[in-house]
Amino acid sequence: DLKTRVSLESKDEIGSLAQSINDLAFDLQKYRESKSEFLSNISHELRTPMTSLKGYSKVLKEKLYETEEEKEQYLDIMHQESIRLTRMIGDLFELSKMEESKLEFHYEWIDLSEVMNSAIRTVKWKIEEKGLVMQDHIQDDLTYVYCDGHRMAQVFINLLENAIRYTEQGTILVEMLEEDDVVKISIEDTGIGIPEEELDYIFERFYRVEKSRSREFGGTGLGLSIVKNLIEQQGGSIQVFSEVVKGTRFEIIFPVSSDTAKEGEEE
Ligand code: ADP
Repeated sequence: DLKTRVSLESKDEIGSLAQSINDLAFDLQKYRESKSEFLSNISHELRTPMTSLKGYSKVLKEKLYETEEEKEQYLDIMHQESIRLTRMIGDLFELSKMEESKLEFHYEWIDLSEVMNSAIRTVKWKIEEKGLVMQDHIQDDLTYVYCDGHRMAQVFINLLENAIRYTEQGTILVEMLEEDDVVKISIEDTGIGIPEEELDYIFERFYRVEKSRSREFGGTGLGLSIVKNLIEQQGGSIQVFSEVVKGTRFEIIFPVSSDTAKEGEEE
């Protein structure tokens, strides 16, 4: 039993030291377990698209398809799976840098409304392609905040892409406003939603609601854990609210301390 590696009989300082050592050993064990679970998840997740690439390339090579359409369909799947694999490898690389705290942030005074407007321009074609409506209420005189503009763009694009991916019809609504020393950002969709019992887990690595459906949507289950990590490392926080079939809203709170506000205005 990990908790009692060192005897806990003594109630004095040695006893409390023993308790701390036991707790540390327990934490270390938990850390090792989560790391090995993570590694086994990775191998599983990487193997899935590889298996499908291997299978379909064999079918094509041995001409085991019956029609040209069938062939096109297989090529299409292979193309999609290789895109997913590339995304996954990129995400994993980011995550591993985060875990080792090697991710570099280039802090600057940033107008988050500009970052959001440009993120929206980046995904606009996807919104139009799917026939969704884009609405935004973005305050245009926000106080500058001290953060990494590229990382924030990555966060916004990721959340917008999820909103588009998990919405079949309706509206993507983006709001950004300043209130009581914080900038509040919300990205809301009218999509499939997330079951209440899953909400606690969606920021975990590789977590996907209904794996097979998610795979069909082309997800990796890594995006939100990266988003949360990036926001928190820059001093912000993120929350999710959702209702199945109705839609999902992600809310980011970014602090604007009065000190930073002043310096921001001087820029
Ligand atoms: P993925 O790459 O699979 O989208 P994420 O980490 O970005 O991975 O998201 C984790 C899971 O949370 C997704 O698989 C999806 O089931 C759910 N999810 C994320 N964003 C939304 C959204 N806007 N609407 C519905 N479900 C979502």
